[in-house]
Formats: sequence, C-alpha cells, structure tokens
Amino acid sequence: MQGKPFIKKIVLGVTASKALLEKAAQAKADTVIVHHGWFWRNEDSCIVNQKYERIAYAIKQELNVFGYHLPLDAHPEWGNNTQLGVVLELQILMQDGKPVSCGEQKLVWLGEPPLGKERLGDFVSHIEEKLGRQVLFIGDKNKRVKKVAWCTGGAQGFFDVAINAGADVFITGEASEQVYHMAQESGVAYIAAGHHATERYGIQALGRAIKQQFPSIEVDYIEIYNPI
Ligand SMILES: [Zn+2]
Repeated sequence: MQGKPFIKKIVLGVTASKALLEKAAQAKADTVIVHHGWFWRNEDSCIVNQKYERIAYAIKQELNVFGYHLPLDAHPEWGNNTQLGVVLELQILMQDGKPVSCGEQKLVWLGEPPLGKERLGDFVSHIEEKLGRQVLFIGDKNKRVKKVAWCTGGAQGFFDVAINAGADVFITGEASEQVYHMAQESGVAYIAAGHHATERYGIQALGRAIKQQFPSIEVDYIEIYNPI
C-alpha cells in the first residue's frame, strides 16, 4: 500500500488490527509489517466495515502496510515454526541445513523436546512457562515424548499429519471439537497453545533481521493482547 515514501520507522505486530495501526501511528511509524493481513481466501473482499476502517485509517496516516502470511510461517530461519521451536528449546529435526517438514503444505515441523522435559506433564509446564500462558492439553501427562510435531497458528486441521508422522504430541495454536477424539483414539497428545501466542516470534525475528540489514531504520515489535 502507498504510504510515506521513505521508511524510517517500522512497527511489527502479529495482526494488522486497528489497535496495532493506532499504536504504530502514535509511535510515528511510517511502516507496519504483520503476519496476518486483511484479505483471506473465501472471505468477502468488499472493503466495508472493519476492513474499511483499517484501510481508511492506514491511508489517512500514510502507513506502508506489509503482510507476510504463509512465507512467514514456513521460512526456515525467521518463520513462526522455526522460531517457536527456538523459544520452546525444541531440538529441531534438520536435513541439508533445513528443518524437516511434512504435510501437504509442508508446514508441520518435527523435533524432540528439550532434555529433561520428556514427561508430557513437564513438557506442558515448560511450554506454559515459555509462552507465559496456560495451554489446552489433551493427553496423558505421565507419557513420555520422543517426537514432537508442531505448526503455529490455526493448524488443528494438520493433526492427522502429526499422527501420520509418528509424533507423540502435536503443538499448534487452536483446537477444534474433533481433535479431542482424535487425540483419545490415536494416543497422540494435543496442545493448543494459542494462535497469537505461537505466532508472535516469526515477526519478531523478521524485525531483528531487518534491523541487522538496515541499522539506521528504527524497528519496534508491538504486542497487542489476544487470548486466542
Ligand atoms: Zn495465523
């Protein structure tokens, strides 16, 4: 989107919500970079209501708005999956210098839990501590984890990919009704750790990378509360 002609200050956030745009404008940023943008497949693309409000506000404030959705999930270095692995201290399964991924869209990463956190109960507490929030857990806390599969955000539909990959536990952001039964029947544990909470880290890593490459640009991540 056309905004100010020069980029001097970037605000990064998970979602291009009105709240983030307002914080960016208050911070005198000229550019906003997000993971969740404004236009989604199968969604009415008419620019009305909240969509209009957000876009009108961004134009009025002359903000440049950039959104990187799937590329920021899948990026081997700065992506959400890799960065969640780093935050949770997972031992990421690598091949030829890249994370091993599976599923149709290659968005499910594999690895091992940190040493000493192999009991599911301990692993769940570890995740809650690292993310600073409670998670939804389905499984037997006394079971041991060898193989972890994860995909940040709303990847409840990829639970079967994790099961087929032989994982002992699947971590994603959200849960749907059917995953409870799938977890019970497969014996594979399920952790819904928050869509927002699991997707905060890719955009922050991108911010650090931008700062490294363009030291004169001011770069700031702004956290907007979202319990989902
Ligand atoms: Zn997402």
